[in-house]
Amino acid sequence: MKITFIKPNIGRMEHSLYVDEGRMEPLMLGVLAGLTPSDVECVLYDDRMESIPFDEPTDLAAITVEIYTARRAYEIAAEYRARGVPVILGGMHVTLLPEEAALHADSIFLGDAETAWAAVVEDARHGRLKPRYQGPPGVGQIGRVLPRRDLFRGKGYLPVTLMQYVRGCRFACRFCAVSQYFDKKHYIRALDDVLREIEAQDRKFIFFVDDNIASDHKALAEFCHALIPMKVHWVSQASLDVTRDRKLMRLLERAGNWGNVTGFESITPASLRDAKKSPNIPCFSHYKEEVGILRDHGMMSWAAFTLGHDHDTAASIAATVDFALESRFTLAAYNILMPYPNTPLYSQLEQQGRLLYGGKWWLHPEYRFNSAAFVPRLMSPEELTRACHAARARYNSFSSLLVRFADMKTHLRSFARIGAYWYYSLIFRKEVFKKHGMRFGLQ
Ligand code: SF4
Repeated sequence: MKITFIKPNIGRMEHSLYVDEGRMEPLMLGVLAGLTPSDVECVLYDDRMESIPFDEPTDLAAITVEIYTARRAYEIAAEYRARGVPVILGGMHVTLLPEEAALHADSIFLGDAETAWAAVVEDARHGRLKPRYQGPPGVGQIGRVLPRRDLFRGKGYLPVTLMQYVRGCRFACRFCAVSQYFDKKHYIRALDDVLREIEAQDRKFIFFVDDNIASDHKALAEFCHALIPMKVHWVSQASLDVTRDRKLMRLLERAGNWGNVTGFESITPASLRDAKKSPNIPCFSHYKEEVGILRDHGMMSWAAFTLGHDHDTAASIAATVDFALESRFTLAAYNILMPYPNTPLYSQLEQQGRLLYGGKWWLHPEYRFNSAAFVPRLMSPEELTRACHAARARYNSFSSLLVRFADMKTHLRSFARIGAYWYYSLIFRKEVFKKHGMRFGLQ
């Protein structure tokens, strides 16, 4: 038996194919292949950089679906089904919108794969795939499963190993699909399993793709203690409340944490309250104190903003860029606030009649990447799209890159950090401009 795992692309640029030069390993597909019995042949095709050989014989196509890749994932599924190959779709988007995904597949997988993937493989082997499988959200890679990293070789992924320690997040931000998927809970892997996985690969630079590695401070402290002797450098995603625990910040630094993606979201307190962004709300001091603590501990932060809240204007978005430049964040993402299905934000905008593209922007043929998908309160959708694009252009200009680079506390701490700053800043800059205005899907 043979299973073909597929990581779909987002779509294409207006006049040419899009190749994602900032692509990272599709960790979850490697984990699924690791969960697959060893007598089953596994192959992986990454639509972000290679053509999918639809005519190559296979017994099952397993496609991971995210909201931004849903349209393309359904196109790929249609190609396989037209050739008589059964298709199973899984991933967060499928779990949040099962009825939509079921229209495009022979089978859908809801939730986490760990407890039910073996049943899928056995059913596919005997030609009796069920229309729906479900695994409860839970601890990742149970049974000491290691991802099949051999499947990633030769695909030009960024030189960083992806791993996971914590799944989910305890917070309840109103725009966040993770919060809905995990129902405001988190699940923590056994430390020994993570340490074993670090030892089983060659790299010293790791990205823990946890939704929020700081969801449980005690577990994060234990993790740091265990990592200190491993002498690795790592980044992750961490909520801002971690800065309130100075002991934990010292531990992070000692454990080799170079920085994290952190959801700052907004510089306007009223927007944070509306969004229920509770890790950012207490002690709000326009982030001065929090940014100072991050920098004192050498954190090369990737600040993530969501723009288009009800108090946002073009001026507040420009002020957000000023704040980010003053803070010398290594990277910053100026994301338009997106109505993800099944979130409280989506329901609110739907009730208020403010959703565009029929409420299904991820499938709409006219929707373009990085465009507003709802009507903001104080600006037009076009103004919001333009203001966010201007923010990205300003933050990623060469003069801005140079100004941010000159920071002894973070980027200039070592030659390795200097290299990482320029390597990732230049890739990120290129991708930001390439992706703007992309079409979803190829058709
Ligand atoms: S802190 Fe981050 S991961 Fe957690 S609910 Fe809020 S946006 Fe989602």
